[in-house]
Amino acid sequence: MSHPLKEAAAGLPDKPGVYLFKNARGEPVYIGKARSLVDRVKSYFQPTDDPKVRNILAETVRLDFILTASEREAAFLENNFIHHLQPKFNLRLKDDKSFPYLRLMVRDSVPGLFFSRKVDASDGARYFGPFSPAREAGKTLQLLTKSFRLRTCAEAVFRTRRRPCLEFEIGNCSAPCVGKISPEDYAASVRDAVLFLEGRTRELAGILRGRMDAAASAERFEDAARWRDLLRTVEQIRSRPKAISVKLENQDVIGLAQAGALQAFCVFLMRDGKVRESVSLIRERDAGPSPEKALRDFLEDHYSGRPLPDRILVPALPEGAAALRARWKTAAKRRVGLVVPRRGDSRTLLDWAVKNAESLLRRADGERAAVEDLQSALGLQSVPVRIDGFDVSHTQGVETIASLVTFCGGRPAKEGYRRYRIRTAGPADDTAALAEALERRYGRVLREKQILPDLVLIDGGLPQLGAARADLDRLGLNGLPAVSLAKREEILYTPDRPGGIRLAPTSPALKLAQYIRDEAHRFALALHRKRRADRSLK
Ligand code: SF4
Repeated sequence: MSHPLKEAAAGLPDKPGVYLFKNARGEPVYIGKARSLVDRVKSYFQPTDDPKVRNILAETVRLDFILTASEREAAFLENNFIHHLQPKFNLRLKDDKSFPYLRLMVRDSVPGLFFSRKVDASDGARYFGPFSPAREAGKTLQLLTKSFRLRTCAEAVFRTRRRPCLEFEIGNCSAPCVGKISPEDYAASVRDAVLFLEGRTRELAGILRGRMDAAASAERFEDAARWRDLLRTVEQIRSRPKAISVKLENQDVIGLAQAGALQAFCVFLMRDGKVRESVSLIRERDAGPSPEKALRDFLEDHYSGRPLPDRILVPALPEGAAALRARWKTAAKRRVGLVVPRRGDSRTLLDWAVKNAESLLRRADGERAAVEDLQSALGLQSVPVRIDGFDVSHTQGVETIASLVTFCGGRPAKEGYRRYRIRTAGPADDTAALAEALERRYGRVLREKQILPDLVLIDGGLPQLGAARADLDRLGLNGLPAVSLAKREEILYTPDRPGGIRLAPTSPALKLAQYIRDEAHRFALALHRKRRADRSLK
């Protein structure tokens, strides 16, 4: 049987990004990056003997993704996520190896340039990067020292030198330690290096081109080639990753997208300048709320009981922004910024969050379309927003388990998942096992006045459906629609269509029904597997 998420994987965008395989508790078990999300994630669902892939898929009930502008961006984000979330199957990046930076000690009278693994906000230095792959930092440092001849020696060495070191001899340093360059000329070199590291191409290009031409006309071709290489490297420096900032901000970035009856939110949690986590949420949308009202409702919910960052970036000022700020100030005992960024890095970050919210919305729209398709295929009076799916399984006729999965708006709602160890049914009596599960589930729902689903989906054919229908009727749930989906034939049965409903294999309604059935089956099997593993350990 194919994995229930195989279809979902095929629907991922053909764009770069980070993907997260998540377990039933919503925790990521594996995180990866890809140039094309659909191609990469689909490859996990091909038949394989790789035990790691099989274990990942066995635990995965949900796939999430974040779009990025490039694979390079995705590498930074993947690195942040893995360090922060520590998924159990990511062994490679779990250690705290971070991407390197270049550190310019601007506070010193004769600033030096160094390689650094960390950003330290207290040392007054300027940091540039991060660099990926890491060797780019080494290459850039080499290029910069060769081009601008800045010192790379430690402060203690610099202060005690009486003659230049080898770096001067090989043309990598202008030897400010012994005054071989005037303070003004050294300061000019530092300014040029900063222009380069800031990626201010236009200003730097003018300077470099002048030097390149001068070097070429003086037939100093090696120098000319060096300036040309430097110009090319500027482009790489310019494309700074959005997921990491050297300003070490603690901020949340909230993207919102609304269309039709849905609204999607994507929140990036940036801590110490790194996007470490993302939260995404789809909500039903009231008729015609403005983005300002939608944001206010979301912010009120999202931050009740959650720690507040220093700053929250939003696409529009929410309704009642002043009241929200005042409430947060009291709760956090400090000011919490609520900002609509117009330009710069903050705007770029916000646009990224909005883009991800839009992508989430497009996906949810597809799921909603599948739910509506199922409504029309089954001839239901209302859209089956909440669907319960049941499966019965056993090990060689014994240890019978009934599993229940719940879906809301076409997506698994894992908080509703349950497993029932069957107590009363005889060996391999699936119908009696299902009756017990239905009785326990809906008996409790009725006693505790919980919300009933809009549809019950049973794994099986007409006999299983008939038995389930009788059980539901016995509980007084005559109005609760039930449907069954037979394996192999893939035919949907309802009590009033005993001949069955044959849908095209590509039908969104059939795919959703198969997803629910297969998910219920997978959920039951996971417990059987665990029991077997526990037994083998004894
Ligand atoms: S030449 Fe002087 S300033 Fe330059 S790296 Fe060597 S010791 Fe430091």
